[in-house]
Amino acid sequence: MRQLVIATKNAGKLRELKRYLKNMRAGVVSLDEFEHSPRIVENGKTFKANASKKAVVTSRFTKGLVLADDSGLSVDALGGAPGVRSSRFAGPKKRDKDNNKKLLHLLAGLSAGKRQAKFICAVAIADNGRVVKVIEECCKGRIAFASKGRHGFGYDPLFLIPRYGKTFGELGLKTKDKMSHRSKALKKAREFLKRYLKCSVA
Ligand code: IMP
Repeated sequence: MRQLVIATKNAGKLRELKRYLKNMRAGVVSLDEFEHSPRIVENGKTFKANASKKAVVTSRFTKGLVLADDSGLSVDALGGAPGVRSSRFAGPKKRDKDNNKKLLHLLAGLSAGKRQAKFICAVAIADNGRVVKVIEECCKGRIAFASKGRHGFGYDPLFLIPRYGKTFGELGLKTKDKMSHRSKALKKAREFLKRYLKCSVA
């Protein structure tokens, strides 16, 4: 059986990714299983570029199959910002609270119709240092006027799903999973990997 390495050391992310990659012809492990893994600077201009870089560099290091992702928020009124800088929007400390505060401040005075946004998730799969698949999916919504709900992470308490009139922070993981950028991208990654693992030789 082949091994699929998830290019993250973030326990929360790993748990989320593993849920979608169950029952495959590959043992799913995290980068934590490897000592001295390379430090990767996420300096790409797009989510796809960052996910691909992470996948390729890690795959060169592990000499095998690797899945990497990169995600963030794109706000129409801000020309796509915070984008690839989502986690460090308000500074290098990467505090969700500060990022959300900055976002609300920048959108102050804008009506509901001008607060359109989307979450984007890119997933890249590399094998032996070569990208074999890149997927990008999004989830559309709106930035709320105030933070609501205690579920999720990052911008979830501000990300309003108009159909429900509630934020991801209020809706919780089960509902989020049905429509999120990450779940859509990972479902496609899973389908790809199922086919790929049938044909690829270890
Ligand atoms: P990364 O994919 O770990 O680089 O995450 C980038 C940043 O985007 C996170 O730190 C969050 O600020 C934001 N982000 C990405 N996905 C989500 C999500 O599903 N909910 C809330 N914030 C998100």
